[in-house]
Amino acid sequence: MLRNDQLEQWDRENFFHPSTHLGQFARGEAPQPVIKTAKGCHITDRDGTRLLDAFAGLYCVNVGYGRPEIAEAIAEQAKELAYYHAYVGHGTEASITLAKMVLDRAPAGMSKVYFGLGGSDANETNIKLVWYYNNILGRPEKKKIISRWRGYHGSGLMTGSLTGLATFHNKFDLPLSPILHTAAPYYLRRPDQSMSEAAFVAYCVSELEAMIEAEGADTIAAFIGEPLMGTGGIVPPPAGYWPAIQEVLDRHDILLIADEVVTGFGRLGSMFGSDHYGMRPDLITIAKGLTSAYAPLSGSIVGEKMWKVLEQGTDENGPIGHGWTYSAHPIGAAAGIANLKLIDALNLVQAAGTTGAYLNAALKDAVGGHAHVGEVRGEGMIAAVEFMEDPGKGTFFDPSKTIGARVSAELLRDGVIARAMPQGDILGFAPPFCLTEAEADEIAGKTAKAVAAVL
Ligand code: PLP
Repeated sequence: MLRNDQLEQWDRENFFHPSTHLGQFARGEAPQPVIKTAKGCHITDRDGTRLLDAFAGLYCVNVGYGRPEIAEAIAEQAKELAYYHAYVGHGTEASITLAKMVLDRAPAGMSKVYFGLGGSDANETNIKLVWYYNNILGRPEKKKIISRWRGYHGSGLMTGSLTGLATFHNKFDLPLSPILHTAAPYYLRRPDQSMSEAAFVAYCVSELEAMIEAEGADTIAAFIGEPLMGTGGIVPPPAGYWPAIQEVLDRHDILLIADEVVTGFGRLGSMFGSDHYGMRPDLITIAKGLTSAYAPLSGSIVGEKMWKVLEQGTDENGPIGHGWTYSAHPIGAAAGIANLKLIDALNLVQAAGTTGAYLNAALKDAVGGHAHVGEVRGEGMIAAVEFMEDPGKGTFFDPSKTIGARVSAELLRDGVIARAMPQGDILGFAPPFCLTEAEADEIAGKTAKAVAAVL
């Protein structure tokens, strides 16, 4: 086993960490957590410190850590057939079975699933499919994509552009054309504090309508949104938001892409967020919960309307020129099958709904009345606490005070991982679905202590 100082040195000298302050890390000024083992909702680091992971990694280990059923399925697949590609109609038993299992669970009107590796590449696939679709339909000018400020759709060139968070644009020359951003359905940050929720939904709709009017509906191909905004602050949509947006999109013949990388496979207490909120998407992005992150795998679920046109396109132009070496990787597919079987066997979607509601209520009880807590919000097994300078006046803290990050650091010292969301003073919670009520109480109690220590 490597000595800790040796590991730290190699880490600093060789490893380019994503989403990390590179200078601080290289100079040894940042923590260097090395995670060694995990079971259920807990991870243990190299020093033996056990932490309650209230964010399930990056809200992805939905069934919890250390599931032997999934580990064994991966090992069996690796022994039997570690790899074969999916080009020119090739399949494996695992990839074909998983496609069937995904479609069996998908919202109505879905036709096929295209497998990738992560949420970002699945969204790249979606944008290409939308453009291909409009080219086949003979309307090459219908190409713009409307996303939302604070939306998160990945870190690639196109997906980083879809993402509506400055941190992911800065100094990268993003967003690229033809991406547009419209208002986030973020009621707490409404433009006018006196607006009712219904008036705020009408405002979001009118912003979208104005954008479509200004750009021309014949130039706009699709709208992309997470059913419940995740990385942008864990923001459930206000009541009636999605049906109102859907009506506008239908009227202007604009496709809807539901990015369900976080919400897919149960996080909201429903199998899909689209069903939860009454969306009728043409494409659905899936990733994290598809395998509970036991292996990298993502997917684009394609609706019937688009599928017919894609088929027509290949009849006219030959095979579709889009594929990854690792599309439908059998080891990822084996992990996906075992993961979905486990979710069914243990009723984990229902558990996410009931234990999630318990966690949300416990957080509200613990910190909802604090003078600097603007809101405790969530749905199913996802929740956020947002800190404000003065909730009564609707004022937020100066970002330089880094309140969210300080509360999260305090909580970590007490053994609980919650995520300081990248924009705003927001503490995010998205534990594995196997969370117990006792663990939910521990999260809420320790959050109250951490908030009291910082504020
Ligand atoms: N879409 C959403 C809604 C996400 O939350 C994420 C990642 O957090 C992505 C896309 C990108 O997925 P990945 O990091 O696997 O590329």
